[in-house]
Amino acid sequence: MSEMLIVGARVVDPASGIDGLRDVLVRDGRIAAVDTPGAFGAAQVAETIDAAGCVVAPGLIDIHVHLREPGQTHKETIATGTAAAAAGGFTTVVAMPNTTPVNDSVAGLEWMLAAERGSVVKLLAMPAATMGSLGEELADYAALVRAGAVGFTDDGKPVLEDNVMRAALLAAERLGVPVSQHAEDTRLTGGCSMNAGRVAFRLGLRGMPVEAESRIVERDIRLLRGIEATHGVRPHLHVQHVSTAKALAAIRQAKTDGLHVTCEAAPHHFTLTDEAIGDYNTNAKMNPPLRVEADRRAVVEALLDGTVDCIATDHAPHASHEKEVEFERAPNGITGLETALGLALRVLHREHAMPLVRVMALMSAQPAAVIGLRERGNLQVGAHADLVIFDAGAEWNFEAKDSRSKSKNTPFDGAAMLGRVRATVCDGRVVFRR
Ligand SMILES: [Zn+2]
Repeated sequence: MSEMLIVGARVVDPASGIDGLRDVLVRDGRIAAVDTPGAFGAAQVAETIDAAGCVVAPGLIDIHVHLREPGQTHKETIATGTAAAAAGGFTTVVAMPNTTPVNDSVAGLEWMLAAERGSVVKLLAMPAATMGSLGEELADYAALVRAGAVGFTDDGKPVLEDNVMRAALLAAERLGVPVSQHAEDTRLTGGCSMNAGRVAFRLGLRGMPVEAESRIVERDIRLLRGIEATHGVRPHLHVQHVSTAKALAAIRQAKTDGLHVTCEAAPHHFTLTDEAIGDYNTNAKMNPPLRVEADRRAVVEALLDGTVDCIATDHAPHASHEKEVEFERAPNGITGLETALGLALRVLHREHAMPLVRVMALMSAQPAAVIGLRERGNLQVGAHADLVIFDAGAEWNFEAKDSRSKSKNTPFDGAAMLGRVRATVCDGRVVFRR
């Protein structure tokens, strides 16, 4: 029996509504008790962590990361990506399927989730919605869910055909998991490398209209309505990295109408606009792209009013030599695991007065709910002892060179952060300590 005691902290647990001074007792990798300071007296434990002055919250959960293994391990590996996750306070990450080969089989999923890959946090995965993410033939959802899949997605590409998306939603509904959609009407974005607008004109680049995102979201919501009318069931649509006011308006309405729609927002979309591209900075290139200020504000508003269910990083590492090319040829994506908490606290908590317990909900309890995790993302007795211990008032600047990720492609090199992770505990083990 191994025990750990964390004392002196402000415990913030959105699931139970706790926000106050508490001590936390961990036994055999699970939460054994959360009680008033000193309640455990001089308990004989293997390790005591003095967390005075810090916040202790459920370990962060990121339902959208790219770990690049198998096939692109020069960008990242499961070991390096999850080390970056732990440094950022994350204890659970969900790997996207666009590896090489695409994760669309039980054999591929089991390989990815195997202990030999060296994940230092809880690793989960969403396999491909369609074989090879080609948008044609569904993967074997039942077998993949039995092997641990927590949802299905062709992330990086949309499921474009109505019939295929309808079949995906129905198949996932029978298994109680979401279809997670990268909402981009690729018929409108061919040859585009950033958001359409003033900045794209100045740089002479083809821009993606906001309708490329909102049209797919609106189409998917129509499919949900049709399925409910004809089959009497409510499939779960999860919309990834929403970046436009238009798509958020459609999601807000669908939620009001009682459809099972959830969505995520990425820190870069609530922090930056397309102005960050400056003079062709490829580290500000991702998909969906950085939008204009009105869209950025709409993402913040949707986080504040509850339209957005969770924050997800879309951590997408690329090697320097891949990003150091002409803007239009550079791959999409930025790293995000070590900057998410610092940006969420700076922008949402400090600049927009979002209570700390709500920020933590967006990064733990609510992403857990999206993928149906019950024993993580909260500090209930019996839950996995996944904890982030951070100094909520610490101001610091992120340095890309200090990142645990194998890649350094971030627009936040040198950026101001609020709140610094001191330690991360996963299943009762310290997996990161500063
Ligand atoms: Zn995507």
